[in-house]
Amino acid sequence: MNVFKFGGASVKDADAVRNLAKILNAYNTNLVVVISAMGKTTDLLETLVKAYFDEKDQKWDILGLFKSYHTEICHQLFGEGVTPKPVLNHFEELEEKLDKAPSLDYNFEYDQIICFGELVSTQIVSEYLNVAGKPSQWVDVRTCIRTDDLHRDANIDWELTGELCKQVFTFNENNLYITQGFIGSTPANLTTTLGREGSDFTAAIIGNVLDAESVSFWKDVPGVLSADPKKMENTTKIDALSYREAVEMTHSGAKIIHPKTMKPLHNKGIPLYVKSFLSPDDPGTVIQAIDHKIELPPIFIIRENLALITLSPKDFSFISIEDIDRVVNFLIENRVKVTLMQQSAIDLNLVLDAGEADWNWLLEELEPFYSIRYNTGLTLITIRHYTEEVLDWMVKEKDIYLEQHSRLTARMLVKS
Ligand code: ASP
Ligand code: MG
Repeated sequence: MNVFKFGGASVKDADAVRNLAKILNAYNTNLVVVISAMGKTTDLLETLVKAYFDEKDQKWDILGLFKSYHTEICHQLFGEGVTPKPVLNHFEELEEKLDKAPSLDYNFEYDQIICFGELVSTQIVSEYLNVAGKPSQWVDVRTCIRTDDLHRDANIDWELTGELCKQVFTFNENNLYITQGFIGSTPANLTTTLGREGSDFTAAIIGNVLDAESVSFWKDVPGVLSADPKKMENTTKIDALSYREAVEMTHSGAKIIHPKTMKPLHNKGIPLYVKSFLSPDDPGTVIQAIDHKIELPPIFIIRENLALITLSPKDFSFISIEDIDRVVNFLIENRVKVTLMQQSAIDLNLVLDAGEADWNWLLEELEPFYSIRYNTGLTLITIRHYTEEVLDWMVKEKDIYLEQHSRLTARMLVKS
């Protein structure tokens, strides 16, 4: 069997759904298809969660936008005035949820609402495939992706997930399953999510536990490129990458693949294809075990909206392993992810995602121990396989706040 994953852009409107059906029509093998919420729906639902949690009436307007966006797509796919019943059921379920008072747990409430993006998108696609003559079975992935209750960043129970996936995806009665990325559930059947852009990870999990022959991500780019074409000109497509290379790229912030994707695939030696849903016959990029050296061009990864915090012990003592331990544990407890860390004699430099942290509070907590300096609005440029020439060109006229070089990777933090 094989696993396909389609992201938000590949189902953003009725034409995109038709295109997806066309791609699936070309395959007759056993397939599990993992799909994200349509277009920018998850961003919209994040505003809904906020309005709901803050008990603002605006939640009903946002619900209205959510419904009208999907209803319009349904009308274009199924005929004027027609919205499939399962889609209406999800609308109703969400409305009922919004009508109740929220609990005090924001992360929990987030997961209970955000999941509707994926539930509705997969229902629409599955219903459309059925009328388009490509029968499929819709699966609520929460019946088989089992997690702990760390809402918004849940951890997979691999053993249980494996057992459940094997029970659900049997391929006995049909060869095509449509299911959601990004969401899962606790043993108590409460919805959880795997982190933003987590659908890639879902596809990798299902691929891993079902021993897929391959996993394919269908994207709006021709494959993995040497840089994000939205941020740089003259990118080249890379035909093949090792898991190792892909892990380094995604960890540095290459948006094309979620960083958690690589491990489950690497562990089972499952190749990952990154292909274009706009030109599905082109080969795209393959990520797999590669034991020989391959020539790669310099690869640029640009990560924006970062902050640099510099902590220096107040009594002028050296930064010790205990300092690092204290700070890192504090950040882990508060679920702030560190992108990069560097230490000198009396400075501990931390590069963090500026959007994620509650700044005032963070600084307040660390203030008793350290003098703190910080800068926001920074960009981290990572260059894999750099050459001196490329480095010189890249740093021209830039204010560099922090630099790190290893044999294959150069990193610099610059003012955006
Ligand atoms: N819809 C979710 C998000 O936008 C998951 C995904 O797209 O992978 O974050
Ligand atoms: Mg998405």
